[in-house]
Amino acid sequence: MPDSSRPGREGVPIEEKTVYVPYMSDHVVAITGALRHHGIRCEALPPPDGDTLSIGLELCRGRECLPCFLVVGDLVRACRSPGFDPGHAAFFMPGSPGPCRFGQYRVLLRVLLDREGFADAEILSPTSENSYRGFGAHPRALRLLVWSGIVATDLLLELLHEFRPYELEPGATDIAYEHGLGRIRSALERGGGRALMAAMVAIAQDFAALPVDRSHSRPRIALLGEIYLMLSVHSNQQMIRQLEAAGAETVSGTLGEWLHFADETKMDRDLLFGTWLSFMGTKGLSTYQKSAEQKLRVPIEHLLRHPAEPTMREVLDMVRPYYDPLLGTETTLTLAKTVLLARRGVSGVVNVMPFSCMPGIVVAGIAPRVRADFGQLPWLDVIYDGQQLTNIRTRLEAFVHQVGQFARAHRTGGPA
Ligand code: SF4
Repeated sequence: MPDSSRPGREGVPIEEKTVYVPYMSDHVVAITGALRHHGIRCEALPPPDGDTLSIGLELCRGRECLPCFLVVGDLVRACRSPGFDPGHAAFFMPGSPGPCRFGQYRVLLRVLLDREGFADAEILSPTSENSYRGFGAHPRALRLLVWSGIVATDLLLELLHEFRPYELEPGATDIAYEHGLGRIRSALERGGGRALMAAMVAIAQDFAALPVDRSHSRPRIALLGEIYLMLSVHSNQQMIRQLEAAGAETVSGTLGEWLHFADETKMDRDLLFGTWLSFMGTKGLSTYQKSAEQKLRVPIEHLLRHPAEPTMREVLDMVRPYYDPLLGTETTLTLAKTVLLARRGVSGVVNVMPFSCMPGIVVAGIAPRVRADFGQLPWLDVIYDGQQLTNIRTRLEAFVHQVGQFARAHRTGGPA
């Protein structure tokens, strides 16, 4: 990846550019807030929409996956907007190695930006190969600040998903959530640390004041699968809201666990190849991150009804009866989380995946074995190809009904 302290394309140093961050989810505040604190000018791109998809479909060959179309569309839409200056622009585009197409996004984006006349626009691409290190003039500090923002956003989302289904004033939880997001953003711009802890305390007070009625608990569904679709409410047709409207409570996978997953897979590779120094560096970073995560959770812990997750190593070990974690890709994470949450009593799983997504297809293939071990845990694969899913509401209502029946029949989660 490019070293941002040296001149980028056309000799313009990164400090003189604007970094544009695609809007996968609200975690974008973690990246922009941290970049601003480090003196890097940045902007979040607008969330993906119909225009984005049209541009992506126009420029790609059609064999790519939906997140690829959307990311291509997001970047090119920004490039084509009035006043855009490619020579002073850099796009933030994390990558990943391995068989999944994600590792090729940056390559494809480079080709397409060059072809469309935006060769001067830089692509900044930290990668999971190095645990997403190496960005900015103070890469370690920046990475840790981004990390704390991602954890804070994950915790805020956890509150949202635990409170909203039981709110007595429609819309009140969304307002508390938006306030919380603003608090996190401004705390990160001030450097995180105490400011971020104070933001978490204020968030806890906002949520504690929400009137809720939990006298009738709802069946709990895990939303898992391909990370972009799982987290992007603009791309998954507001899946969590739809599940709530159908009568469920939802627990979703998080972005923070993806970063823990990247750390663990990197350490596995280091062990395999005997790169001990690299292993020790990641181990130290990972331990620090876990303890920072635990501290940020303290102010809101009393409001959450569900426990914190074990370490990613423990989670990944749960998948071994079904899949070797060394095979990697999101398949590992989705299946491991399924086992964890099934043990913790979720009564159904929605697995979201883009059309032709290889890790998603493998998950769907292995799922019957996992489901069988948990009393035929209800399972729904939802496949997105960029068209709006017209019958999704009916399917979700039927699924939530099935999940409710399962929850009544199985009060415990399955084999431990
Ligand atoms: S996980 Fe699936 S959808 Fe996501 S980049 Fe990889 S192949 Fe595409």
